[in-house]
Amino acid sequence: MNKDDINSIKTLLSSPKAIVIIPHKNPDGDAIGSTLGLYHYLKQYNHNVTIIAPNDYPHFLKWMPEEHSILKYDNKKEDCDALIYNAELIFTLDFNSLGRIGNMETVVSNSESIKIMIDHHQQPDDYAKYMYSDVSMSSTCEMVFNFIEMLNDVNKINSDIATCLYTGIMTDTGSFRFASTTSATHTIIGQLIQKGANNSEIHNNIYDTNSYARLQLLGRALSNLKVIPEYRTAYITLTQEELNTFDFKKGDTEGFVNYGLSLKGIIFAAIFIESHQDEIIKISLRSKGDFSVNELSRAHFHGGGHTNAAGGKSDLNLKETIEKFISILPTYKKDLYF
Ligand code: 5GP
Ligand code: MN
Repeated sequence: MNKDDINSIKTLLSSPKAIVIIPHKNPDGDAIGSTLGLYHYLKQYNHNVTIIAPNDYPHFLKWMPEEHSILKYDNKKEDCDALIYNAELIFTLDFNSLGRIGNMETVVSNSESIKIMIDHHQQPDDYAKYMYSDVSMSSTCEMVFNFIEMLNDVNKINSDIATCLYTGIMTDTGSFRFASTTSATHTIIGQLIQKGANNSEIHNNIYDTNSYARLQLLGRALSNLKVIPEYRTAYITLTQEELNTFDFKKGDTEGFVNYGLSLKGIIFAAIFIESHQDEIIKISLRSKGDFSVNELSRAHFHGGGHTNAAGGKSDLNLKETIEKFISILPTYKKDLYF
């Protein structure tokens, strides 16, 4: 995004517009935090702003300021189609390809509105007129802060914006510990706290609202953990039956994959979660250092993401998926073999 782009966007935003903001399907803290942060900013200029998420998100995100105003496409399709059709501007946040918004893909790609992408995933598609894409960024929330700064509006950041942006930076950086966390990230975090983000309250809202059943599910996941030491790899499986036993709710398995990486000497971790509803195995991949799970997921599991964190899926059953996973490890011997 260059100076001309910024000036054009400034001009666009100088009079009230019909604006839709869209996060990716199965939105996470960064997706909800960035869309709400931008929402609270744009509202100050009297735009008509609506956030439309492709589907629902976990309960631990359902406390953020104005979160209740987010529409879910999968249960309000007609209303949402009309809003998208009539939008003058569409912001797409925290994803790099319209394939990541599920059933919204067609209506968004057919819409003639001006599209603005703000995102930090690798290999972005070219659907937006204005693209702020930077894979070195910790989070889309950090980029929304920068975007507001580029518009010379840091003084417009109020406690609602600060709270939303803090949340997404915190969740996407694993509480400021992943390699993507820079001194610039911490400088922004400092400013967000100054502007009213209550860091310990936010941490509590996100991480300390577990149900008993979720902790029991974690116990099961950990007892299913398998290690392949020669490939410095660990993986977890959860069957649909296990999810049912522990009263699975959306978001309950968030973060489980990281336990594999916490093992000494392990640099590649995966979790495979059976979903009868979606008729797929959902896969989350994490790594340390240069080993790219983005590349691995693109090559073998219809997904992608970042170097150290990616998602994907498999149409095989759970057992076959694990066999496939184990069978591809030798391909990555150079990176993984100990
Ligand atoms: P998670 O494993 O937490 O679902 O996702 C890890 C990262 O990869 C997130 O940044 C997420 O947005 C991205 N990601 C997850 N699934 C996919 C996918 O199917 N395609 C792409 N390109 N990125 C994904
Ligand atoms: Mn993100």
